[in-house]
Amino acid sequence: CGIVGFTGSQEAAPILLDGLSKLEYRGYDSAGIAVRNENAEVEIVKAKGKLKVLKEMTNDGKAVKGTCGIGHTRWATHGEPSALNAHPHCSDDENVVAVHNGIIENYQELRDKLLKKGYTFKSQTDTEVAVKLIDYYYKKYLGTPVDALNHALVRIRGSYALAVMFKEYPGEIYAARKDSPMIIGLAEGESYLASDVPAILKYTRNVYYIGNLELARLTKGSVTFYNLDGDEIQKEMKTIDWDT
Ligand code: GLU
Repeated sequence: CGIVGFTGSQEAAPILLDGLSKLEYRGYDSAGIAVRNENAEVEIVKAKGKLKVLKEMTNDGKAVKGTCGIGHTRWATHGEPSALNAHPHCSDDENVVAVHNGIIENYQELRDKLLKKGYTFKSQTDTEVAVKLIDYYYKKYLGTPVDALNHALVRIRGSYALAVMFKEYPGEIYAARKDSPMIIGLAEGESYLASDVPAILKYTRNVYYIGNLELARLTKGSVTFYNLDGDEIQKEMKTIDWDT
């Protein structure tokens, strides 16, 4: 339902929790964050219920260390509201960690395909299927994250805004969307992403709107956009001149 991402030199978790709180008005049943620390390890904290629970579990984010992360508030569509089904979801080796808004319509078919390839599933969500599909193509073709995302996305039917971290690309976040909103914000040495502007307005007013079927690669303070062929595309930065 709500997505926030950050990569920069500040601690990510407090920024993720603050951003998610600005999206609370949309409603949700659970929340979670994933933050990568300097050893490239990912820490995932998830809780059913209000953001307050997650804030208490992490001492307002201060207990989770790392400067690159993604966060989510979930409105369940596939699988009951629970800590297990809350996002972020990750591949078993934590190679791919992601949050997702939307619905993957052909998730059952994709799940069956992945089960045959030896994947197992911890949750009932359509999102975990997307995460493992991305992991599958990343390993199969030994390409870049953009290649893996493109291979996976052409096989996904439905709607998505995805924010993804890959183990071998620390400090980077990849974003993709179709029929579900997602924006990117840039500041000096810092990059943000969110499902809606209010989440990041406190930090920057310089934003890019990701188009349908476009991908973005965020590094600290810069962003590159791609189409589904993996070709780089140019986009114009917009300045938000309104307040919430
Ligand atoms: N379909 C996903 C789920 O049920 C995402 C729901 C959402 O947009 O929050 O986990």
